Amino acid sequence: MNLRIGNGYDIHRLGEGRPLILGGIAIDHELGLVGHSDADVLTHAIMDAMLGALSLGDIGHYFPPTDDRWKGADSIELLGQVDRLVRDRGWEIVNIDSVIVAERPKLKPHINAMRDRLGGALGLDPGCVGVKATTNEKLGAEGREEGISAQAVVLLSKTDSQN
Ligand code: MG
Repeated sequence: MNLRIGNGYDIHRLGEGRPLILGGIAIDHELGLVGHSDADVLTHAIMDAMLGALSLGDIGHYFPPTDDRWKGADSIELLGQVDRLVRDRGWEIVNIDSVIVAERPKLKPHINAMRDRLGGALGLDPGCVGVKATTNEKLGAEGREEGISAQAVVLLSKTDSQN
């Protein structure tokens, strides 16, 4: 089998005094996501999808929140590490699709910048990086603006079909 698919999900709480970073892009908002790293939920969901495609566990295993090395970590940097792990095993990304669930702020103006940033970090054409955003119609934690979540799927292809 030369194709593998992976699924990723993440949610972080919104809080004051934190930057809001999604897909590696800093977005102007009065609240930011709280976490040990920069709490970039979109990038975290994509990393988990990449790891999941190869049954390699999750980002908590590679970058545990108990380890001070990852305190305030730039998730785009961590994404590069996960990408190397995937490539070292002889796999490459075919495409990514993802969705961010956030009541506010409006994310549409930032979507293409996220696709460019993620594509740049992964050596992928932004045309292979789908990023969508939706509100939760004021329902649930995202709808009450208690947090922002993201989901991602990633398709991987074997780089060497002989393997
Ligand atoms: Mg996370």
